[in-house]
Amino acid sequence: MAKVLIIEDNPANMKLTSLLMRHAGHTVLCAIDAEHGLTMAHAEQPDLILMDIQLPGMDGFAATSLLKQDPATATIPIIALTSMAMKEDQKKSEIAGCDGYIAKPLRYQELYAVIDALLAKAAPQGNEANPSGGTP
Ligand code: MN
Repeated sequence: MAKVLIIEDNPANMKLTSLLMRHAGHTVLCAIDAEHGLTMAHAEQPDLILMDIQLPGMDGFAATSLLKQDPATATIPIIALTSMAMKEDQKKSEIAGCDGYIAKPLRYQELYAVIDALLAKAAPQGNEANPSGGTP
C-alpha cells in the first residue's frame, strides 16, 4: 500500500479523507496548511498527495506548482480536492500541474478509483510482491 500525504485545513474533511485512506490500507500523513505540506512532502517523500485547494495562506494551486517545479517532489502524483461549486478549479488544477481532480463532497468510490489509477501508473509493477504492505 501507499504513503499518502493529505493537505487539508478543514478538520471534518481531514478526518473523513484520512479514514478513507486508512480503510484502503494506506499510511496517512496529515498537514493542515500548504507550508507544512511542502515540508512533509520533502521529508517523507509520499507516494501520493491529496491537496485541498482552499487553504489558509498559500493555496493548493500555488503549493502544487512549487512541488512540481522542485525535482525532489516533481514526480509525486497530486490529486486536487476542491469544491463542486468551483468549476474553474478543475482547469486551474491542471495548469498548476495536478495529476487528478476530485470534487468535494468526496465519494469514496471515485476517490479510490482515481488513487488506484495514479498509483498503478506511478508503480506499474512490483506492488503485488509485497502483500504485507510494509514500506520499503
Ligand atoms: Mn480547505
